[in-house]
Amino acid sequence: RVRVRFAPSPTGALHIGGVRTALFNYLFAKKHKGDFILRIEDTDQNRYVEGAEAYIIDALNWCNIPFDEGPGKEGNYGPYRQSERKPIYKKYADQLVTNGHAYYGFDTTEELDAHRKDHEEKGKTFIYNWHNREKLINSLSLSKKDVESKLNSGKDYVIRFKSPQDQKLSLEDIIRGTIEIDTNVLDDKVLFKSDGMPTYHLANIVDDHLMEISHVIRGEEWLPSLALHQQLYDAFGWDAPEFAHLPLIMKPVGKGKLSKRDGEKLGFPVFPLAWNQSKGYKEEGYFPEAVINFLALLGWNPGTEQEIFSLNELTEVFTLERVHKSGARFDPEKTKWYNHHYLQGKSAEELAVLFRDILKKERPNILHSNDLKNITEIITLIKERATFVKEFWELGDYFFVAPTIYEQKVVKKQWKNDTPEILNLLVSVLVGIDDFSSENVENIVKEWIDVEGLSFGKVMPPLRLVLVGDMKGPHVFDILGLIGKEEAIGRIKNAIV
Ligand code: GLU
Repeated sequence: RVRVRFAPSPTGALHIGGVRTALFNYLFAKKHKGDFILRIEDTDQNRYVEGAEAYIIDALNWCNIPFDEGPGKEGNYGPYRQSERKPIYKKYADQLVTNGHAYYGFDTTEELDAHRKDHEEKGKTFIYNWHNREKLINSLSLSKKDVESKLNSGKDYVIRFKSPQDQKLSLEDIIRGTIEIDTNVLDDKVLFKSDGMPTYHLANIVDDHLMEISHVIRGEEWLPSLALHQQLYDAFGWDAPEFAHLPLIMKPVGKGKLSKRDGEKLGFPVFPLAWNQSKGYKEEGYFPEAVINFLALLGWNPGTEQEIFSLNELTEVFTLERVHKSGARFDPEKTKWYNHHYLQGKSAEELAVLFRDILKKERPNILHSNDLKNITEIITLIKERATFVKEFWELGDYFFVAPTIYEQKVVKKQWKNDTPEILNLLVSVLVGIDDFSSENVENIVKEWIDVEGLSFGKVMPPLRLVLVGDMKGPHVFDILGLIGKEEAIGRIKNAIV
């Protein structure tokens, strides 16, 4: 059975790269009718950030990629927070000491720093492995008696993995193929800390084993840990899951990994939901389906030209084999393009409900702000150009409030000496119209223009100008029909006094 996990450390908000990792895990699980597990890796108590776990869960829910098992959704493999699994790990660390794959280290931080400095001065790097092990203070260099007395005296110790000398490891990754590693470059990583907590490496392997994880799908930054992880599985005599390391997400311009600062500099969100001072995709008005669609193609391709995928379609076509090896460039404009697409696919009614919520909050006192039918009609007229719901205001503010300024270039061109007189006559025509629907107003006004021998050019541009303040907007009669008789007449009169 396919079982995958997303295993974030609650050290802050989930950034967009983390969401992509979660998404690829989700898609892979759903494609194979397997389980998607959320495991909170909180063994590093110094880096724990209040609220981060709740944030991660909210973010996955907003993206519509909920987990099947995890904190608050207990399955058969819980608990799903490593801090609550603390009693489990020690015996596994001990097991590795007993079978010779790990050992006790007694060096203090100060002693290790001194070794590092010493090496640096000689232009070398200090690696804690067979190169130096004998000169250091550990259960491989000390006598049995010394080790026992140190353990009995309660001296702080860590448990380190014993990295083998002169071995070639051959590691398999679904995306990257075979990776050869020389063990001489690996250090003896700490598996168990003096504070009684396992390190990430030990807890991660033990939990993936106990939770019967079949595939580990995670970011490329964990690739350097693969050699140790594979060796840990071997040392325990366990079958390792299959591994797939996802390509890095790169800055929109220039070199290097996408960072939070790039978002601040270029003005795009890097978090799904707001976190501290930064707004997230949600608050900026992105639809989750746009974010998901965009993220799916960040480092993966379907092998066709298709760019639009619903979550369901993605779960059908997604394969790890089509994930790229090289970094994926983040393109904020593309995210907007997706949002435009998904906004256009929504009905005016649906958008009206969303827009009304914004109006109620931000402009509670304006004309029509509660009239859903009216807002729906307005949106039908202006929808085409919008990427975000909030843009309906910029695109159609004149439906809700009279213009306060008139575009001077337009005034110069369209406002003639006889314009006030013509508009005044028009008012008297409008006053007499009972059925103020766009169609009826159009018929009557056109007939009036005809009968009076006026030209369209003398009536329509100034009319648009006084209604909108500019030459933009849909059909003038549609605007008239929507703002209504009283408001229309008011705007004209206001302009000609
Ligand atoms: N806790 C690690 C992280 O924060 C998990 C890495 C992994 O998936 O093995 O990304």
